[in-house]
Amino acid sequence: MRIIKLDESSKKNILNDLLKRSPNNYDNFADSVNAILANVKENGDKALFQYTKDFDKADINASNIKVTEEEIKEAYDRLENPELVQVIRKSLKNIKEYHEKQKQYSWFDSKPDGSILGQKVTPLSRVGVYVPGGKAAYPSSVLMNVIPAKVAGVEQIVMVTPPGKDGKVNPNTLVAANEAGVDVIYKVGGAQAIAALAYGTESIAKVDKIVGPGNIYVALAKKAVFGYVSIDSVAGPSEILVLADETANPRYVAADLLSQAEHDELASAILVTTSEELANKVSEYVDMFVSKLKRKEILQKSLDNYGYILVTDTMQAAIDTANDIASEHLEIVTKNPFDTMTRIKNAGAIFLGENSSEPLGDYFAGPNHVLPTNGTAKFFSPLSVDDFIKKSSIISYSREALEPLSEDIQKFAKAEGLTAHANSIRVRFEEDDDIKE
Ligand code: NAD
Repeated sequence: MRIIKLDESSKKNILNDLLKRSPNNYDNFADSVNAILANVKENGDKALFQYTKDFDKADINASNIKVTEEEIKEAYDRLENPELVQVIRKSLKNIKEYHEKQKQYSWFDSKPDGSILGQKVTPLSRVGVYVPGGKAAYPSSVLMNVIPAKVAGVEQIVMVTPPGKDGKVNPNTLVAANEAGVDVIYKVGGAQAIAALAYGTESIAKVDKIVGPGNIYVALAKKAVFGYVSIDSVAGPSEILVLADETANPRYVAADLLSQAEHDELASAILVTTSEELANKVSEYVDMFVSKLKRKEILQKSLDNYGYILVTDTMQAAIDTANDIASEHLEIVTKNPFDTMTRIKNAGAIFLGENSSEPLGDYFAGPNHVLPTNGTAKFFSPLSVDDFIKKSSIISYSREALEPLSEDIQKFAKAEGLTAHANSIRVRFEEDDDIKE
């Protein structure tokens, strides 16, 4: 891995370089995505089935688009490793427990004058979850997207995922979906599946919100349908930043950097450290591990593209760099990680100490692994129960509570030229219908 002694100019170049990975910069895919969306909006199922034939080589029609009970039962028998069911159940329990703590409740506040103000929390009615199915299957993503929706109390959870050539869905995905409590699963993927969820087709009814990761076609389609439906976020390639001092174990740090670099060629893996010795040792361990790991080609490409070891003079400079990069995953491996953590402002998930390695969060600890990428941790949060609820304000006033405010409200309304607003207050306290401007 390249080792760079960090200064203001090298930091600026690296930040610019990292932002190039954002789906916001992939305009060259926008035309094909927009064409798919428009076609499904206009032609519904017909377009949906044709795209599934073209891109996934699968024959899907109105009678087989929905995954049946038999297919779910069969998925348990098709599992390559039947022990995965128990692993999924244990992970599910942790994810559920963590998300239960995020639940928000309605509240009402009454005053002595009889007025009541409050906030009513309502779960979304129908949510669509996209589960990638092209190059690999991600049962962990099924759990991370579905469980917060279940905890929030969403009435219907609809999952879409592309089928294989044989028209079947990956069994790991189906088992995870069944364990998590998905209500209905459709065998469609890509931008066409996002269009179906956003606009509705003969087979798939429109949803209120679409969540879940996918490739560039899925990400851009989600961005384009925002407004017709809500979306969670436009997730970019995975990233990890390890913030370490001389106390860190270089072997662990190298292994953790590679855990994200293997996701894809645009993934980023960055070590920021005050120790030159650690920098050199991590680089050696990275080379050693890359030569032995299965995905060595992807690993090498992502390290060449967006792998950096940055050496700073002080821990404050290292922390400032971590805050500027605002990584999706941040590992802190310093003498006192909790103290360092209090100085971190921007990160999707923060892993403290040498045993809190990133894959623990990906699969098992409980917090959500759907996290803001590409510097968006400066203003976005992890996927949570909040994404699956909405709030309504509650206002209830008695005549006695309203009367003393009547004049002030009318003055405010008139200042805005809105005399009908003023009149709706006035009629409650004056008998005549003579409206004075
Ligand atoms: P996918 O399901 O996202 O995409 C497959 C679909 O892409 C196909 O069904 C097809 O409809 C469409 N497609 C393929 N080629 C096309 C073309 N030329 N034109 C139009 N549409 C086309 O599966 P994938 O491709 O394997 O990608 C999965 C992505 O999800 C990866 O980038 C992975 O890193 C990401 N992911 C992210 C997380 C996370 O939490 N951030 C988790 C899991 C996966």
